Amino acid sequence: MLPPDTYRHQGLRRQLLNELREGGVTSAAVHEAMNSIPRHFFMDGAFVEFAYENKAFQIGAGQTISQPFTVGFQSQLLELSPGQKVLEIGTGSGYQTSVLCKMGAKVYSIERQKLLHDRAKSLLNQLNLRPTLVYGDGFKGLPGYAPFDKVLITCGAPHVPEELLKQLKIGGKMVIPLGEGNVQEMTEIIKMGENEYGRKTHGKFSFVPMLTSREYKE
Ligand code: SAH
Repeated sequence: MLPPDTYRHQGLRRQLLNELREGGVTSAAVHEAMNSIPRHFFMDGAFVEFAYENKAFQIGAGQTISQPFTVGFQSQLLELSPGQKVLEIGTGSGYQTSVLCKMGAKVYSIERQKLLHDRAKSLLNQLNLRPTLVYGDGFKGLPGYAPFDKVLITCGAPHVPEELLKQLKIGGKMVIPLGEGNVQEMTEIIKMGENEYGRKTHGKFSFVPMLTSREYKE
């Protein structure tokens, strides 16, 4: 069963969103979506009081729910229109996935930790959201559902995955935090032609790593 979403939670959420706005997340569509999703549903009951601080948080399996500012910033960079197909790599808690769903996107999300995949699936179902959640390796993408209007990577990628560029529509955009270690450069890649790409960077962020199968242990 879902926990209650009290006036107190709703008030804290609005405060957090004001903080995000001051930091540059100004998109009305992003605000509306983030306001409609109780972030505390995605955190362990014992830590609910941390849900509306602008911080990343442990969600099990050594992974974290991204910082709210990061979720807002990445969602804004995507420049989504309702109905667009988005491929997300790193479902994690499912929080970012639900924000994309609320923005009207048709969302496909891959997670390689079975425990997190299963939990997100059950929670999003209870929220009446219906993304396609896949347990698998994000480096491979989902060729069967390609091409995508947007690709969003929510873990620190050591390089741009070739396969994911192929699955992006011409005119589409990938948002990817690039770099190994603790710091990544938020990068936007526009696919301008079959083999023609434009790139912009948007500052430093910190993500858990995007792991290849070699590094991965259940
Ligand atoms: N969007 C998530 C953020 C989770 S952190 C949220 O809102 O909670 C990043 C997630 O990426 C982790 O759950 C991690 O297990 C996952 N991940 C790392 N490498 C991956 C890969 N190669 N394929 C799919 N998921 C991956």
